[in-house]
Amino acid sequence: NLSDKLDKAFHILKGHGKITEVNVAETLKEVRRALLDADVNFKIAKDFTTKVKEKALGQDVLTTLQPGQLLVKLVKDELTELMGGDVAGINLSGNPTVILMSGLQGSGKTTFSGKLANYLLNKKNKKPLLVACDIYRPAAIQQLYVVGDSIGVEVYSEPENKNPVEIAQNAIKHAKANGFNVVIVDTAGRLAVDEEMMNEIERVHKAIQPQETLFVVDAMTGQDAVNTAKTFNDRLNFDGVILTKLDGDTRGGAALSIKTIVNKPIKFVGTGEKMEAIDVFYPIRMAERILGMGDVVSLVERAQEQFDEDEARKIQKKIAKNEFGFDDFLSQIQQVKKMGNMKDLVGMIPGASKAMKDVEIEDDAFKHIEAIIHSMTPIERSKPTLIDVKRKARIAKGSGTKVEQVNQLMKQFEQMSKMMKMMQGPGGKNLMKMMGG
Ligand code: GDP
Ligand code: MG
Repeated sequence: NLSDKLDKAFHILKGHGKITEVNVAETLKEVRRALLDADVNFKIAKDFTTKVKEKALGQDVLTTLQPGQLLVKLVKDELTELMGGDVAGINLSGNPTVILMSGLQGSGKTTFSGKLANYLLNKKNKKPLLVACDIYRPAAIQQLYVVGDSIGVEVYSEPENKNPVEIAQNAIKHAKANGFNVVIVDTAGRLAVDEEMMNEIERVHKAIQPQETLFVVDAMTGQDAVNTAKTFNDRLNFDGVILTKLDGDTRGGAALSIKTIVNKPIKFVGTGEKMEAIDVFYPIRMAERILGMGDVVSLVERAQEQFDEDEARKIQKKIAKNEFGFDDFLSQIQQVKKMGNMKDLVGMIPGASKAMKDVEIEDDAFKHIEAIIHSMTPIERSKPTLIDVKRKARIAKGSGTKVEQVNQLMKQFEQMSKMMKMMQGPGGKNLMKMMGG
């Protein structure tokens, strides 16, 4: 009978179910597609899903999470882990701390040098010096001066000197003599990796022994970013990666591939052309970005906390007996409200945060609905069919709403009751399906 079936459905929700091979395979196919869309290397995506599959199969669902949601959590955790797990700090030892920028032309070295100087100046109380070692284009030195001026940081350059090793060494001397405690060396890059450039940066690297050698890479270049990273790492054994232009369309798959292939942490990301557009890299946030999801897991966890099983059971019984009324509707709204304000909730729904970005959401989206229901008499609430035109007018007046709003609510209520009845239709199978069984 029905209540047995409901029991079963709740048992599924309560998590006595197991993840099946079928739903794992289906979900992981989607995950793999998402990874490939996000520019993750094919082999990495494949290995990744294999690993998650192994973890998922045989694991009991311990919570009321649906298998799909549990998988999302597994995937997110695994992605986070692959990208280094924790935040990787920047090594500021040494006096002065010497930081060397490497990377291809256009990757964002000069811009990032400025951002990092600005960050260290304002957030870490440092006195940084910017050094222009891109000696091939006069405009490059000029660009660094513009950057330095905009943030109030001194720039060291030797426009006549064609030896970047010497310039870097002289800059460090200058820093020591003038109380700078961080030296950020901006270097030249070519459009593609070439031997001459590699030799040059290798020589600079050897001569100045930086505390931090950072490899700057444009996230938009996807797969190429990974190959370049490998080449630079083979020569410089750099300490960390800077992923720039994350404000673009990219979903950041390069982040995952790079970490896997060179096994160096991503330390910062660049998210715009302005000097303030720098963020410490958080693996967990990038994992969410790659999956294109809001914080599904927290949403589910919150729903779980608020889910009142007895209440739900009562309501199911009422539906079965055709006794579902506005009081029950009200109590359901209250349950939903306990989960948090609508803005927060929408932000946690995958895809919705992006889609709803520009939509104004009322903080209390249920305000009118509650007012209308409160203006109904107890009889009206339990027998909504009684509510005729005259009563509607009275309710609208009492609740400070318009008759159209009352009509709208009546219609919503009717649809909802209908749907709930359908869900427990013949065999109750639909209900179980909707609950993820
Ligand atoms: P470099 O050749 O490696 O020194 O690269 P630049 O610092 O000159 O940057 C190349 C271009 O990318 C410039 O137009 C920068 O404004 C732009 N750029 C750098 N970082 C970012 C970023 O994080 N986001 C965006 N949108 N543009 C960036
Ligand atoms: Mg440059």
